[in-house]
Amino acid sequence: MLICRFNMQCLGVVADEVVYDVTRALEILPRVDWPLPAGDMMIGNIAKIRDRIADILPGATGVPVRSVSLHSPVANPPKIVGAPVNYREHVAEAERDKETFFQHQLVRIQEIGLFLKSSTSVSGPAEGISLRRLDRRTDHEVELAVIIGKIADRVKHEDALSYVAGYTIGLDMTCRGREERSLRKSIDSYSVLGPWMATADEIPNPDSLDLELSVNGQLRQKANTGDLIMDVSDLIAFASSFYTLYPGDVIMTGTPAGVGPVMPGDVIMARIERIGQMDVVVKAA
Ligand code: MN
Repeated sequence: MLICRFNMQCLGVVADEVVYDVTRALEILPRVDWPLPAGDMMIGNIAKIRDRIADILPGATGVPVRSVSLHSPVANPPKIVGAPVNYREHVAEAERDKETFFQHQLVRIQEIGLFLKSSTSVSGPAEGISLRRLDRRTDHEVELAVIIGKIADRVKHEDALSYVAGYTIGLDMTCRGREERSLRKSIDSYSVLGPWMATADEIPNPDSLDLELSVNGQLRQKANTGDLIMDVSDLIAFASSFYTLYPGDVIMTGTPAGVGPVMPGDVIMARIERIGQMDVVVKAA
């Protein structure tokens, strides 16, 4: 099932370019007082939400997907985890010397580890990207983004995928410079998520998905998640060995070769197999 958040507070199911309004499913969410528990409430209750959606969907009203504003499918991600240098840069090189290349790359990401982006950097297709620091270069990075569905604390590799609520497309926008990554990647709107969440059952194997990104119609990045050095299960096990993952946490799995600069006025098209595609407008903040 493809579940979107649209027109700010509405919940939708997407099928054949139509959004069906299933906002009433949110009525099952618990009424809670401050302080709120950690995690995104909708994602943390996704099983109950889906049960309600099943009741509501046959009678739901549909409107064309182009007529609504699509926002990040995760409204309140507690944290956004990033993975640096996580694609085998050159498939040919990897195939020529698989063992050595793979080991070398694996050591690199395990030495560097993961980084965090600010949860307030989240944006959606409707909001787009607002570039700051126009004196600097800002690059696009298209990534498979994993949405965690339940509390994951030191999970085993073989159990890791059972903690996933779904998948979405992530743009890990990056301002170039010498500062810490987390600063340069945490600018408002620099973590675009969308256009919706494909629930985990839609994607039995996240480690074999084509992904691509173009800017103004020009192809910049094209790869398959099969080229990930640390795959989705590796990343969940590795991240949760350091910190607990909460419902709504997003793991951006890393970007393949082909990153490049964007400017105000550009339109980014990002697509991932089995999820969908989105157009994201770049403007100046
Ligand atoms: Mn990245």
